[in-house]
Amino acid sequence: MSIQLKNKSEIELMRKANMIVYEVHQVLGEMVVPGVTTRDLDEKAKEICFANGAKPAFLGYPASSPSVPDFPGVICASPNEVIVHGIRDDVALKEGDILSIDFGCCIDGFFGDAAVTHAVGEIDTAAQELLDVTSASLDDAIVQCRAGNRIGDISNAIQTRVEGKGFGVVREFVGHGIGRNMHEPPHVPNFGQAGQGRVLKPGLVLAIEPMVTVGAFEMRILEDGWTAVTRDGSLAAHFEHTVAITDGDPYVLSRPYVF
Ligand code: MG
Repeated sequence: MSIQLKNKSEIELMRKANMIVYEVHQVLGEMVVPGVTTRDLDEKAKEICFANGAKPAFLGYPASSPSVPDFPGVICASPNEVIVHGIRDDVALKEGDILSIDFGCCIDGFFGDAAVTHAVGEIDTAAQELLDVTSASLDDAIVQCRAGNRIGDISNAIQTRVEGKGFGVVREFVGHGIGRNMHEPPHVPNFGQAGQGRVLKPGLVLAIEPMVTVGAFEMRILEDGWTAVTRDGSLAAHFEHTVAITDGDPYVLSRPYVF
């Protein structure tokens, strides 16, 4: 697949998909308290998605290996040392946990995708610092989303923020183009050299998603074939927005304020 630039009306269809994604994140964010299970969150996400006439993007997503079943959840629910692709279950979240929620959906043929990591009740300072640096690295990345800049400018902004604060950048998973497909070229790594890589053009839409660890950045996949955890068991966080490159400011499709 080659890079698919979107025209203005296509970007507005993507805005519609991403505003459903936003609504899901708002509602689920309010639900993240000690005692809730990720299955509760998953069911609520499905309900909101269907009420809006949208199709969940992750449910039934095929694994890269034929021996692994399709993804069973509507959301990816990734607590604590889980980096991404956690599967909803019946374990109650507890005070002091962190939980990454990733959700994507499709409406009118276009996809939206965003992720947020939440504190469950009161969390300790180290966990809060992890959330803050990961979120700030996404903000730094969005600032770079201007025509004429390069993919490497986005990657480097994330890496600089994260490593500057002494945290780790996960290497195995990267951000991606998005549009009529959940995953389109180009890759958007969370590490790299400024001034390198493809030039950003108006109409390019990217899902930018830093994945950050308190300890070492190495990961492993659990036996379910999906759940990616830090190899050293340290906490990991994940934030994501879908962002359109325009002639002017970055257009963040997955939140109400656009820049
Ligand atoms: Mg994504």
